[in-house]
Amino acid sequence: MADPFFSDPIFRVDAELPGRLGRTGVIRTPHGDIRTPAFIAVGTQATVKAVLPEAMTDLGAQAVLANAYHLYLQPGPDIVDEAGGLGAFMNWPGPTFTDSGGFQVMSLGVGFKKVLAMDTTRVQTDDVIAEGKERLAHVDDDGVTFRSHLDGSTHRFTPEVSIGIQHQLGADIIFAFDELTTLVNTRGYQESSVQRTHDWAVRCLAEHRRLSQVRADKPPQALFGVVQGAQYEDLRRQATRGLVSIGETVGPAEGLSFDGYGIGGALEKQNLATIVGWVASELPDDKPRHLLGISEPDDLFAAVEAGADTFDCVSPSRVARNAAVYSATGRYNITGSRYRRDFTPIDAECDCYTCVHYTRAYLHHLFKAKEMVASTLCTIHNQRFIVRLVDDIRDSIGAGRFDELREDVLGRYYS
Ligand SMILES: [Zn+2]
Repeated sequence: MADPFFSDPIFRVDAELPGRLGRTGVIRTPHGDIRTPAFIAVGTQATVKAVLPEAMTDLGAQAVLANAYHLYLQPGPDIVDEAGGLGAFMNWPGPTFTDSGGFQVMSLGVGFKKVLAMDTTRVQTDDVIAEGKERLAHVDDDGVTFRSHLDGSTHRFTPEVSIGIQHQLGADIIFAFDELTTLVNTRGYQESSVQRTHDWAVRCLAEHRRLSQVRADKPPQALFGVVQGAQYEDLRRQATRGLVSIGETVGPAEGLSFDGYGIGGALEKQNLATIVGWVASELPDDKPRHLLGISEPDDLFAAVEAGADTFDCVSPSRVARNAAVYSATGRYNITGSRYRRDFTPIDAECDCYTCVHYTRAYLHHLFKAKEMVASTLCTIHNQRFIVRLVDDIRDSIGAGRFDELREDVLGRYYS
């Protein structure tokens, strides 16, 4: 069945890493192109914390990812819809993403915030909850009932609810509603969860088509399926094949397919490249792949080499607000006493607004004096650092010197 909402390819591959899954390409959206690999800045509450959209444009950010869970609770998706969608609401003219809320209802619901850093030494169990946390989320085959982290009120997300919210938010790229598991869930639970996420993916595709027709006056949105399966190779591969072939199955998603794919869930740093590689090798080459939530420079190289095209991460902004800044020779804290009289920039090699105009001594002073602009200036620097690093990675693939760049960058950063 030909369907106008799913017929136009949104992705083109340009150059490939010989013998590996990494590549460069372009994702086409109604609000502009994204050259990949690309770092997608996180703007959870329809703002990249502490900085204006103009600053994000100036530092080379290509796209912003906001959060369906947070915007559903505050201000409400109907208000964003009325404003003309996420980009218009937040004055960001470029491409936008929203995640489905699946990660937040689960991770906030059970008290785990950082999947990458999750402690896996705990005994495996079906019922995972962080110590000292009250359970705020309950999963069943139809959806998730959860309590708001803001006021404790009870809410329910189903695949249809999540897609409805994401249509109202109006981002260019949206994600299927999935169940987030943790590395300490039992194997049996992971199996049933992968099946549940697959069943939800079918419902997401069907609802996405329905709403795309109902809201045909709005710019088209691309829907990405999300691959789960934790640390298990067979589950990851099975989950991926299931999502890729979803349109071949009789049912509500017959004839439909995802525009791209997200790689979600529990990833340990040391397994990140391996897991991304399993999934990417099962995915069609002509669809973009988004890795949900990574942070450090070595993770970026590993993810790109393994086939990720885009990735998002809160780290550059989050650590900047705590005075931690990236530099070519590693991350350091600007509040250290050695920077009190240091009148050089954060990173002599950086071309960002902050490094061009301000010194370590001044930023040190701003943090000590608890001035708000300290967070702004350090966020601009950290965002630029990561954007420039990913730009360099993209250029290196085209120029056939990816391995040399990795050795050079990581050798200095971690020395
Ligand atoms: Zn800088």
